[in-house]
Amino acid sequence: MIEGLDSDIAEHLKQLAWEQSEAFCYNDYIKVPKDKNGNTFCPKCGSDDLMRILPYDGPEYGIEWVMEAIIQQEWKLVSSSDIKKATEDFIDELYPDGFEICGGQYYASDILKNCSPGDFEAQVSEYQDRQVEDGYWVEVGNSVYVVPEDMK
Ligand SMILES: [Zn+2]
Repeated sequence: MIEGLDSDIAEHLKQLAWEQSEAFCYNDYIKVPKDKNGNTFCPKCGSDDLMRILPYDGPEYGIEWVMEAIIQQEWKLVSSSDIKKATEDFIDELYPDGFEICGGQYYASDILKNCSPGDFEAQVSEYQDRQVEDGYWVEVGNSVYVVPEDMK
């Protein structure tokens, strides 16, 4: 399941998924090349009820899993520490001067993290949701990936 994929990008990715994967007959366990009309019928059993296969994954029915596999293989993974760091930057941009306490300067993000870890975690989760809603990131399972510029 891919969360947060804009419909134009989804179409583009689906097209790539069809191009990068090949048809596969599970009964005969062979790849099925396109014929001269661009159709795929298994040369052994004649079936067009075919799976898709990638060089590094499959075979499996459907095209959604191919789209997920391409994201996992080719798009940049956003680690949980990257997400935390981006959230810290976001918070610190809201309070660019930081805070002075007893003559020391402190980042807003450090204060929040130390004084209220639960609220900081909530900010991290909200930040991730916003990035997904705004189309910068997508979620596949529990992982987060950056939508590449050339897909937009
Ligand atoms: Zn077959």
